[in-house]
Amino acid sequence: MRIVIVGAGVAGCVMARKLSRLDGVEVICLEQVARDDHSEAGTGLNVGPNAVKAVKAIDPELAGLITASSFLWRNWRISLTDGTVLFDLPLENVADGPGWRIRWSELYRVLREAAGDCVSYACEITDIGRDAADPRKTSIAWTEDGKTRRLDDIDLLIAADGRYSAVRRAISGEPEVRQTGVAIFRLLVPDSSGGLIDDYEQWFNGPSRLLSFKVPPGHIYVAGTFPIPQDAPIAESSKTPDALRAAYAPPDAAAPSAQARWLIDTVCENAADTHWARMQEHTLLYRASDCNVLYLGDAAHGMVPTLGQGATQALEDAANAAALITQRHGDGSRDVAGWLADIEALRQERLRFVMEFSLEATDTMLEGADPVEGTRLKNEPPFQNRLKALYRDVGLPLDRR
Ligand SMILES: Cc1cc2nc3c(=O)[nH]c(=O)nc-3n(C[C@H](O)[C@H](O)[C@H](O)COP(=O)(O)OP(=O)(O)OC[C@H]3O[C@@H](n4cnc5c(N)ncnc54)[C@H](O)[C@@H]3O)c2cc1C
Repeated sequence: MRIVIVGAGVAGCVMARKLSRLDGVEVICLEQVARDDHSEAGTGLNVGPNAVKAVKAIDPELAGLITASSFLWRNWRISLTDGTVLFDLPLENVADGPGWRIRWSELYRVLREAAGDCVSYACEITDIGRDAADPRKTSIAWTEDGKTRRLDDIDLLIAADGRYSAVRRAISGEPEVRQTGVAIFRLLVPDSSGGLIDDYEQWFNGPSRLLSFKVPPGHIYVAGTFPIPQDAPIAESSKTPDALRAAYAPPDAAAPSAQARWLIDTVCENAADTHWARMQEHTLLYRASDCNVLYLGDAAHGMVPTLGQGATQALEDAANAAALITQRHGDGSRDVAGWLADIEALRQERLRFVMEFSLEATDTMLEGADPVEGTRLKNEPPFQNRLKALYRDVGLPLDRR
């Protein structure tokens, strides 16, 4: 049996590591960047406790390697930029364990090392299509080391190639994108906060919000958001230091808290180096309708980043898909279309919930929102119970072979 994975990112590496251990299965993972090229991964990630639980369940050794390169995420606090605390949640109240705080480049390094030799780097894919002899199978062509290569007769093609998935575009068409009306910037800086910033916190000034936490080794991740018209680009005038200071400095001459002051100064000093995006989501799809192609992670679902569930769900997807394929393969099933239907059944409702919840949790960041009242509601049982479902219900009804 031949399995090809496109993308050695979060989901792709976990799949490559687990599936390459199956007897009689040839696994080839094709990655476009060089092994140590982390230029697309220059920020920090908070990875939810649900991903930690899922990875631990299928691969405790891998979970240990990630933990060794992380700080644990144990608490979530929300304040105003004047220092008024609105929400202070120990994650143990809503989760079965802590999350991870990690540099994105470190997560890639750990996962790529763990995925081993089945990954080929610096591959440029030139063609993806259905196999001429058997339309449920696929074919792929790429260039590597200046040579053109091709694989036909692929029993399972796994698209783990992220939010602009070329596989999904080629096989199932362009996903529909929906803008949320929020601009987001991200920054990773050496820690000069003198201990002001550590675990995961957010600070509101009206609907404009800063978010920050510390990651090893000695860096601070900062993300900021503010509302914009829903389908408009982010105005260049809103990216200047003066505009950013105005967005986050508390109103009515109130002094910013020491944390907020350090964050605002840091954002303004580094305004030229921030990574900008608009918050958006795209339609959910786990498998192609007429051939054996599985979509995982961002290739399957683009979601708004409000609850830090992008990489988290890529890990949860991969843990579930790898466990299911391992189980079915061990039971002697070679019905790949059946595996994909079962993975979709396992994941689809879960992801609908995660995407909807992420969007609803964005309420306090939209134009005209009242973050004080909105955050007060996040202390109430309906939101807290949904957090428990988010952080605890990770699927994995399977054995752990
Ligand atoms: C700035 C920023 C901050 C974020 N913060 C968080 C956070 O705090 N918490 C969180 O959970 N999520 C966060 N996310 C989202 C998270 O990074 C993604 O959801 C996650 O990386 C998705 O994992 P994936 O495996 O689907 O894809 P990726 O990790 O994006 O991996 C895709 C891989 O496929 C490769 N690839 C792409 N196209 C091709 C091709 N044609 N051929 C070969 N290889 C290809 C890419 O090079 C990459 O290695 C953040 C995202 C950004 C941009």
